[in-house]
Amino acid sequence: MMIQNDTPFGRPSLLPLGDLADGRYPDRRIQSLDPRFTAHQGNAAVERIATGFRWAEGPVYFAAGGMLLWSDIPNNRMLRWLEEDGHVSVFRAPSHFANGNTADREGRLLTCEHDTRRVTRTEHDGSITVLIDSHGGKRLNGPNDLIVAADGAIWFTDPGYGIDGPYEGHTADSELPRHVYRLDAATGAARIVADDFVRPNGLALSPDERRLYVVDSGITHGGPAHIRAFDVEDGRLSGGRIFAEDFAPGFTDGLRCDADGNVWCSMGWADPAEDGARCYASDGDLIGKIHLPEGCANLCFGGKKGHRLFMAASTSIYSVYLNTTGAKRPF
Ligand code: MG
Repeated sequence: MMIQNDTPFGRPSLLPLGDLADGRYPDRRIQSLDPRFTAHQGNAAVERIATGFRWAEGPVYFAAGGMLLWSDIPNNRMLRWLEEDGHVSVFRAPSHFANGNTADREGRLLTCEHDTRRVTRTEHDGSITVLIDSHGGKRLNGPNDLIVAADGAIWFTDPGYGIDGPYEGHTADSELPRHVYRLDAATGAARIVADDFVRPNGLALSPDERRLYVVDSGITHGGPAHIRAFDVEDGRLSGGRIFAEDFAPGFTDGLRCDADGNVWCSMGWADPAEDGARCYASDGDLIGKIHLPEGCANLCFGGKKGHRLFMAASTSIYSVYLNTTGAKRPF
């Protein structure tokens, strides 16, 4: 099956949607491994909604605007897709090689910037506030991904892929170890909440916010490829056991929880048959896969009812409707 993309970025896409795409429902690219996943499958197909990017990352959906934003890191820009008519346009350029994005409790955009090595908030009037760019007098490496808790605290990772070379930022020395931080956006105070990662990457909170999942994509630098689960209490972490580790030689990058506590994560960089997204139950069982024709970096829930999964996968954005919603309703 081929699709035609008529966006400004769509030189017509001739990328095949994959051998499993035959136009029939149920879509065979959505693979259930467990009844708990089957219950979440809708009578829907995987769609490629936009293409023509270099490296899509950091998707975030805003219900108020009916739009998805994401980063195209090497092109130093962010893009915007309108759900109403599928129009794609540039949201921000230059983006300072932005990576992860999310919305805070007031519906403002929060962004991790590689090149400027900082976390920013885009105010409702469009101005940009720098929330953090250093810790203890030393520059951050380059924040990668972030989430916001119910109390407004921002949890983010600082692996520093943006200072590894010019493709995703620029070449620079690391001044700090590669930690996970919790930032009080009201006071600006940040503290290290996990210091034993090789490359901390995507994160997600369980629906009750008593568990935090954090990816270690350290396999890119001789470390592990797994997801760890921490217990959260009063803004502090304990535990940190390995939750899922069946990714190598590929790895996962970004993840989100659904309303039932399942963990949806990206997958790529190895066997093409494993490219796409995975769903793990909260007990760690792998219960389903979504197969894509490109490696996937990150995903988010969105749509006005919150039951549409958006996947940022290499040069394209894919989506599929599910019978579940994200742990939080989008703003
Ligand atoms: Mg990431």
